[in-house]
Amino acid sequence: MHVKKINPKRFSPLYDCKEQHVAHIAGALPGGAFFRAYHKKNTVLLVFFLVLVLSLNLYGKQDCSPSKITQVVFLGTGTPNPDPGHSGNSVAIIVNDTPYIIDCGPGLIRKAAALSTAYGGKIEALNMENIKRAFITHLHSDHTSGYADLILTPWVIGRDEPLQVYGPEGIKEMTRHILEAYKEDIRMRLYGLEAANNRGWKVMAREIEEGIIYKDQNVTVEAFLVKHGSWPEAYGFKFTTPDRTIAISGDTRVCKNLIEKCKGVDILVHEVFSAEKLKIRSETWQKYHTSNHTSTYELAKIADQVKPCLLILYHQLYWGASDEDLLKEIGTIYKGRVVSAEDLDVY
Ligand SMILES: [Zn+2]
Ligand SMILES: [Zn+2]
Repeated sequence: MHVKKINPKRFSPLYDCKEQHVAHIAGALPGGAFFRAYHKKNTVLLVFFLVLVLSLNLYGKQDCSPSKITQVVFLGTGTPNPDPGHSGNSVAIIVNDTPYIIDCGPGLIRKAAALSTAYGGKIEALNMENIKRAFITHLHSDHTSGYADLILTPWVIGRDEPLQVYGPEGIKEMTRHILEAYKEDIRMRLYGLEAANNRGWKVMAREIEEGIIYKDQNVTVEAFLVKHGSWPEAYGFKFTTPDRTIAISGDTRVCKNLIEKCKGVDILVHEVFSAEKLKIRSETWQKYHTSNHTSTYELAKIADQVKPCLLILYHQLYWGASDEDLLKEIGTIYKGRVVSAEDLDVY
């Protein structure tokens, strides 16, 4: 059995006591002022060092800069509102040039194409034939109405293996209905003159439970339950890659489980609404939003507990507020690093 050797000088409390004793005696000897000044200086340096270390750890790792191995790409930061500047909700986590899609709101495939090398972008991983895996937080339409596009377009362009999809109960049925709805399109592409391959249109849909739901050489994906109105199952996901941990909230109100599962992640991607602008909403909508989503002030308190290196806002409900307003509201409570994502942002 390998036993790690411990340097007694570094770790023995006895040694520390002795050193204090030596310092005490030194103070009483001739030239004690020099020793006292020497130890005082060391104490100041030690305190400075401790404050530095604590502040570095307070909000997780300080190096939140984009990584060559893992990127977080926002294909759509939107909500059900058809805001032309915010496409349907979808994020891609890219690890070693392999994309993992989270949610498939409307527009995700066009946005992925915009960043792909096939259309003049810089991200080869987002070329259609590479899009093979997706994780669905919940079945709300702003997170799933691009599902048919996610199944069919990459296949038509060249994906030649089944799409793997992981989602809550109901994802299998949704998949079956979409394939049924498009059966004529699939038939025509298979047996007409287009000569599409007979694998890429297929979907391996799996219904998940809380825990580790996926693992390969790039990522481990953990699903955790969140609280989203009366949805029986809504999930957030935590991706652990070789160099980063990234948590994505999905849609949720304040959720203890999320805080516990995400503590200390490098990046927390979290939905949000403006707490100030909520006040102008009707009573009915206020009730809906507070039971389904998370306000800026609530998110600030969540971030204070999770302490991510970087907090990224997405699925923003503005109601007339700007990104700066959201950041300002959060900044009244939370002092860590926060950014508000826009479509096509890469972190
Ligand atoms: Zn949503
Ligand atoms: Zn939702």
